[in-house]
Amino acid sequence: TRRVTFKNVSKRYGATVAVDSVSLEIAGGSFVALVGASGSGKSTLLKMVNRLIEPSDGAVWIDGAPVAAEPAPALRRRIGYVFQNVGLFPHMTVGENVAIGLRLAGQRDVAARVAELLALVELPGVIAARMPDALSGGQRQRVGVARALATGPKLLLLDEPFGALDPVTRDALGKAIGALHATMGLTTILVTHDMAEALLLADRVLVMEAGRVVADASPREVLAGK
Ligand code: ADP
Ligand code: ADP
Repeated sequence: TRRVTFKNVSKRYGATVAVDSVSLEIAGGSFVALVGASGSGKSTLLKMVNRLIEPSDGAVWIDGAPVAAEPAPALRRRIGYVFQNVGLFPHMTVGENVAIGLRLAGQRDVAARVAELLALVELPGVIAARMPDALSGGQRQRVGVARALATGPKLLLLDEPFGALDPVTRDALGKAIGALHATMGLTTILVTHDMAEALLLADRVLVMEAGRVVADASPREVLAGK
């Protein structure tokens, strides 16, 4: 598990303040949901963790070190990242997609690991030989999760990973992610505009509004109207 700390983090785009001086400590092993309306800064906050976005002010730390201390590609190899339209490479098989991170890390015999990763997200091994466009949306998101977990990260960032899915598929993928979070000892940060989803999956719900965290509570407290 990894502990993530935001220290007075801001991000401005011209006159727009996307994230406004956020200070926050995310404990190792927790499953945190960032909820809030579109444009409230959720995605910007998340992407400053793996340096897809650099803060204008302040710093994000993972465990004992600022993320800026490490080259972004090395940092990203230690952080799983899944976003809405997964971005599988269309000209590569599912297996090759899952194996990308392993190959970049210099592993050669990847077939067994790919089979293991597909099993982890509850996909049949035969799917490795298929092309991404032959899969359903839910299967593609599962492949995205398998790819994100390939190199054994202890921190998982999820940016609206269920966004384009129907409710049944969304529910099944949510359960799979919940199980992976627990069994793999992950720290997981989920961005979603769906409070019900946050309450179901997370152990801590942070509500964002205009770049600030305006509420911070457990699902039990949210449900009790605290
Ligand atoms: P959310 O994920 O909650 O929908 P975002 O983090 O995507 O919110 O956006 C927060 C604010 O920052 C919004 O006002 C958005 O328009 C603005 N913003 C995000 N990215 C950019 C960008 N690259 N350039 C200019 N403004 C941006
Ligand atoms: P930039 O050109 O802005 O530095 P990168 O080359 O770092 O962007 O990444 C380009 C795109 O690749 C990102 O927008 C993201 O969607 C995707 N991406 C690939 N691998 C990762 C990863 N490990 N973590 C986050 N995003 C990734």
